[in-house]
Amino acid sequence: MGNRAQAEVDLAAIVANIHRLQEQTGVGLMAVVKADAYGHGLVPSARAAVQAGASWLGVALLEEALALRSAEISIPILAWLVPPGSNFASAIAGNIDLAVPSIAIFQEICVASRHLNKPARIHIEVDTGMTRGGFLYEWQAFLELLANSKDDVDVVGLFSHFARADEPGELYNALQLRRFMEMSDDLNELGIEPPIHHLSNSAASLVDASSHFDLVRVGIAMYGLTPDIEHLGSSDSLGLKPAMTLKAKIHLVKDVLANTPVGYGAIAMTAKDTKLAVIAMGYADGIPRIAQDVGVFCNGRRAPIIGRISMDQFVVDLGADSIAEAGEWVTVFGPGEEGEYTADDWGRASQSINYEVVTRIGPRVPRIYKPITRLAE
Ligand SMILES: *Cc1c(COP(=O)(O)O)cnc(C)c1O
Repeated sequence: MGNRAQAEVDLAAIVANIHRLQEQTGVGLMAVVKADAYGHGLVPSARAAVQAGASWLGVALLEEALALRSAEISIPILAWLVPPGSNFASAIAGNIDLAVPSIAIFQEICVASRHLNKPARIHIEVDTGMTRGGFLYEWQAFLELLANSKDDVDVVGLFSHFARADEPGELYNALQLRRFMEMSDDLNELGIEPPIHHLSNSAASLVDASSHFDLVRVGIAMYGLTPDIEHLGSSDSLGLKPAMTLKAKIHLVKDVLANTPVGYGAIAMTAKDTKLAVIAMGYADGIPRIAQDVGVFCNGRRAPIIGRISMDQFVVDLGADSIAEAGEWVTVFGPGEEGEYTADDWGRASQSINYEVVTRIGPRVPRIYKPITRLAE
């Protein structure tokens, strides 16, 4: 139990969200647990995903993949952001699949494979329009190299990533899909037919069946959050249940007169005589400093932030008639079912998105797990 703040993670919600995605897509599901499972906790979230029937785990970093193996999670894991100079041998020895986005990385992986006398399991990453990871200008040269190094590696997958999957009907998605098919054909012409093709993130998993192939990579939706509230609608409308509820304890309550400035810079004033509460969380914990028009949920109503958010604390306006007391727990964000603010509200309030809100909740905030008592329907 945290003594001033805690992020409660409902593991049954993660299970239910994964089941929801599996029903929708009917293909394998890679649970994306990078960045400490979007702030929800790497190992507990990964275990919930495995229990829900996810067939793969996806991470960015090798350290993340190795931490999952240390936790004795044995399902396939893909790590897609393992930089040049990494200990590729440890990945190969740990049965961790590696993304290959460049010739330089491919060559290092081949060296490690030959050294261990064990072919690395690779997923070739192609750039179909995101212009971030994956082969673009090096593609032809890579194909030639691959044709001569087939024995060093086991080509398990071909994958790419959408730039605009959260805008269904956008032609750019069709263009990326076509490029993906063309690059898949290029590989087939070499006699290389990867058993797994994957292209969809959460948004495409929810709305674009043409890009599901054999496996979908689901991140934000497994945590119950909408990939894009404007274009795809709320979590609730998508049948998803937000897994994280962020709670904080009221540090103190004080009566304050009208026209009293609050916080750094004295930029905000009380409009009338009121009660304020100090909440012991701040931007060091991932509360966005620029957030406006959000706050906490306390005794059945919303109490908005007043004044600037500090490093470890912020102040909310409870209203003159509030019965809140120091030591009480309030909700910073949650599923929204009872009227509390949501991660989407905090995203909008800080000119950002729910992804950033949950992922930035800092390490000082303990994660408390609500266990899976029964398999969610
Ligand atoms: C983060 C990530 C995902 C998951 O994206 P969501 O929008 O959270 O579903 C999928 N694939 C790759 C390559 C990623 O980096």
